[in-house]
Amino acid sequence: MEPIRRDYISLAHTAVKNGLLTDERPLVGFVDINGVKQTVAALKEAFPDHFEHYFAVKANGMSAVLKLLRYQGMLAEAASPGELQQAISAGYCGREIVFDEPVKTRSIIRKVLSLGATLHVDNFDELDRIKKLLPECPNHGEIGYRINPQVGSGSIKAMSTAGLHSKFGVALEDEGNRERILQDYANHSWLNTVHTHVGSQGISFELAAAGIAKVVALAQEINQRAGEQRIVSIDIGGGLGVNFLSDEVTPTFVEYADFLNHKIPQLFSGEFRVKTEFGRAIMAKNGCILARVECTKTSGGRHIANTHAGAQVATRTVFMPEAWPLRLSAFDPNGDHKTGNHVEQDIAGPCCFAGDVVAHQRHMPKLDSGDLLMLHDTGAYYFSNPFFYNSLPAPAVYGYDIQDNGEIELESYRHQQTIEDVMKLIG
Ligand SMILES: *Cc1c(COP(=O)(O)O)cnc(C)c1O
Repeated sequence: MEPIRRDYISLAHTAVKNGLLTDERPLVGFVDINGVKQTVAALKEAFPDHFEHYFAVKANGMSAVLKLLRYQGMLAEAASPGELQQAISAGYCGREIVFDEPVKTRSIIRKVLSLGATLHVDNFDELDRIKKLLPECPNHGEIGYRINPQVGSGSIKAMSTAGLHSKFGVALEDEGNRERILQDYANHSWLNTVHTHVGSQGISFELAAAGIAKVVALAQEINQRAGEQRIVSIDIGGGLGVNFLSDEVTPTFVEYADFLNHKIPQLFSGEFRVKTEFGRAIMAKNGCILARVECTKTSGGRHIANTHAGAQVATRTVFMPEAWPLRLSAFDPNGDHKTGNHVEQDIAGPCCFAGDVVAHQRHMPKLDSGDLLMLHDTGAYYFSNPFFYNSLPAPAVYGYDIQDNGEIELESYRHQQTIEDVMKLIG
């Protein structure tokens, strides 16, 4: 077993010292501020300057996170009216936003066009709506089809967006579609970008590159047909996977960039501006959850730890445990890292359904009542994307920064929801 990172131990000590975990607040989330800065720097360094990096807001739409990312030079990809508002509130202006909502109303189309944000068109019906709204919105930004290159699925079906029957984008290989796309671009000079996103987590470099290559070839064909550079930018989506099994960052942005450069050199020639939309690869490893172990017991001879971290903050892990395993670390009530006395145990959450277990038969130091449990790599799609089952509140979140003297400075990113907040939410 690899040794635990020192900052995780400091974080547990800091949480105990500051009394962050209480009866009223038995669970908190953390964002590693310095880690976020380093990750964004690594992303920018991996790709040439004509690449523009839009953060997928759904991965972590917290205001403090979006502001931190913006300060590091990220742009924003929004996929719902709420995410759009989160991006705007965090300071992203029209052209710094791309909008990818799969199911758009006329009102939101009008709003996105008026903002001057980039609008990705999901289907032919939607294009007809946009055509009608366009005269009202002369200051619109770039507009283009989202293409489903139909290259197949990755290892997690629910995360794959480029299968034959995917619900996303225009199916490139369906009969007549390619021709219709080419004609639309030829007829409308305001159609000037093209988008694809092959999927998230479990998508191989090969599969992503195969999808992107098809879209680059399409863009070149569009330009040829138009007799001019109609397509000015290509959005290659996000989807770089994250290693949930250790602290190692793999694959890296550099490895992905090198692979793409080798397979699709046209992306790197400067012929098109290129947009990316990474979410998980930016935030997952820069966040963790700390939860109190309330009680333990034995059931059918198996040790069970009843903790406060379950489906309300680890929804995917609980519902699809094989696809989304999480690393867990144990700390005693003083915040000291527990290393010995390994047993096989179930790590259960607080929700009232039998499947609310974040790890089944996990071999790890035996958890006792009052211990703390850390759920690693949960900076994206975990505490930032709560599930309101059992009227459990969204937990408090802190940003943390390690000072030169080794001390951790905490910044409150979000308070835990009050019971009143939750009651208002549920109605
Ligand atoms: C979810 C999503 C992303 C981000 O995916 P990650 O796996 O988090 O990088 C990017 N673009 C679109 C269109 C998405 O739906």
